[in-house]
Amino acid sequence: MKFILIAKTLDMVEKISSRIQMTNTLVDLFKNTPKEIVDKVVYFLQGKLWPEWKGLPELGLGEKLLIKAIAMSVGEKENKVIELYKMEGDLGKITEELKKRNKTSAAAGLMAFIGSGQKEGLSVEKVYDILSRIATAQGEGSRDLKLRLLSGLLREAEPIEARFIVRFVEGRHRIGVGDMTILDALAIAYAGGGTYRPIIERAYNLRADLGNIAKIVAEKGIEAIKEIKPSVGIPVKPMLAERHNDPLEILAKAGGKAIAEYKYDGERVQIHKKGENIWLFSRRLENITKMYPDVVEEVRKAVNANEAIVEGEIVAIDPETGDMRPFQILMTRKRKYEIQRAIKEVPVRVYLFDAIYCDGEDLTTKTLQERKKVLEKIITETEGIRLAEYRLVETPEDLEKFFLEAIEFGAEGIMIKAVHQKSIYQAGNRGWLWIKYKRDYKSEMTDTVDLVVVGAFKGRGKRGKKLSTLLMAALDKENGVYRTVCKVGTGFTDEELDRMQGLLEKYRIESKHPLVISDIEPDAWIEPVLVAEIMGAEITLSPLHTCARGAIKKDVGISIRFPRFIRWRDDKGPEDITTCKELVEMYYLQLRKLEEQQK
Ligand code: ATP
Repeated sequence: MKFILIAKTLDMVEKISSRIQMTNTLVDLFKNTPKEIVDKVVYFLQGKLWPEWKGLPELGLGEKLLIKAIAMSVGEKENKVIELYKMEGDLGKITEELKKRNKTSAAAGLMAFIGSGQKEGLSVEKVYDILSRIATAQGEGSRDLKLRLLSGLLREAEPIEARFIVRFVEGRHRIGVGDMTILDALAIAYAGGGTYRPIIERAYNLRADLGNIAKIVAEKGIEAIKEIKPSVGIPVKPMLAERHNDPLEILAKAGGKAIAEYKYDGERVQIHKKGENIWLFSRRLENITKMYPDVVEEVRKAVNANEAIVEGEIVAIDPETGDMRPFQILMTRKRKYEIQRAIKEVPVRVYLFDAIYCDGEDLTTKTLQERKKVLEKIITETEGIRLAEYRLVETPEDLEKFFLEAIEFGAEGIMIKAVHQKSIYQAGNRGWLWIKYKRDYKSEMTDTVDLVVVGAFKGRGKRGKKLSTLLMAALDKENGVYRTVCKVGTGFTDEELDRMQGLLEKYRIESKHPLVISDIEPDAWIEPVLVAEIMGAEITLSPLHTCARGAIKKDVGISIRFPRFIRWRDDKGPEDITTCKELVEMYYLQLRKLEEQQK
């Protein structure tokens, strides 16, 4: 398959903003894709070579090296490329333009590194192979090797191909194809229509590898997709909770009777075990096995099953008292380089709360109590692995009592979990089967929210020309886009502000990202990658912002009054942030509370 097909598809996708058109463009691409390489095509569309959780090196080549490779490939001086870069700010476009100009240059022809492929054009396989070699080259001489491979590849590429190869190598997915659009297109191309998308999405939730899922549906059809179970070693997308702050309603939503469980304040972990092999995955499905060798050792002692996937929370423990310590302490462990020292200074314990898979059996379709039964059967508690504390509650009084007990113990609050016949493990979904009831709910705004940065404004006065106010957006999950909610300019220390400049520069883009819906024009557009936790005084209605516009009132969206930056949430990606729908729910919750107070 020719790589130019992918380049042309990405080029088209960049120019269109309608999801339907985007989907149709991808369907055409899939129809021209040999089934055995559909996984690679999907990874290219996602802007990566393989899923992050594989822990394989990512492309992200340093800018200097990239500029050098571009210069070599078009026979220009590096300074010339740098000069253009300063003017235009898009290395992909620059390479494309330079190549267009140089297409007939004899010098470029002479320097051709990769054989005589020019006439035939680059194949997807070849581009994938060379990019993989660039990503994985290590050790002495690897810099030169990367340079040679990349300049050779760029030399051989058509101008439009070069634009996207450069973007892949930059490691910045400026490509506006979201997973949801890819899923839609897979359903139409291989399953017989968009109505099959939920089935494919379910499989993707159970095995977070879209390339793998695409290959199965392309080669074996939708029936094989229906049979998919979790697979040890491939992370399952975590089940997520709604929030509420009224015990009576919480119980009603959960079905009258529910499990109330301590909500531990740490890092979520999904533990996979297959014989002697153990993997740990984070909330964002990153492979964190190497960071917690102590947990791996404990898992060996505690898990009595050959194959299992269980879930829990890693919590920092005071080595003196054995008490739980706050989340911030656990995060300091991540910054320490010497792992052995970190283990000693910040010991941890895992509190397990769910079982997803055990010895060939998919537990996601079982009720919570059935899953708990398996969990309790296969776990022998050790110093480092415990079962989460829970109780069956039936009255608001019991729930409130358990809540206070949890807080006293050092938990953040409680999780209330449905136990009825439909209380399955909803991988990758946020729903009312799990409800969080947190300690900080008593402020006016019921909870902090996690929003993604999509733009930034320059400061005034003391803050000089620094980008010091952020334009934040929430996720519109149905449409796979980000809608603006508020501007945040307080809560940053001077230090944080300085550090932030680098971060923002890294993700700065020339124009609005195609997935961002905004009526506001910031000084700088930022790629939607950086997630921050925001607290505010209350949720308000706003004609300026596009979040949930029209959901509550015609032409009016939702915003946050007096928003304040709390911290960066590196453990969350833009796909994990607060949704517009959740903000609407928070707005109504707040209204109801106010009404009650006024009664
Ligand atoms: P979310 O993960 O729901 O997007 P968040 O990261 O802001 O939100 P919280 O609002 O604190 O997290 O609540 C959910 C998280 O609580 C879970 O992802 C998990 O890491 C943690 N947690 C702690 N104890 C439990 C428990 N007993 N059951 C489920 N999750 C728990």
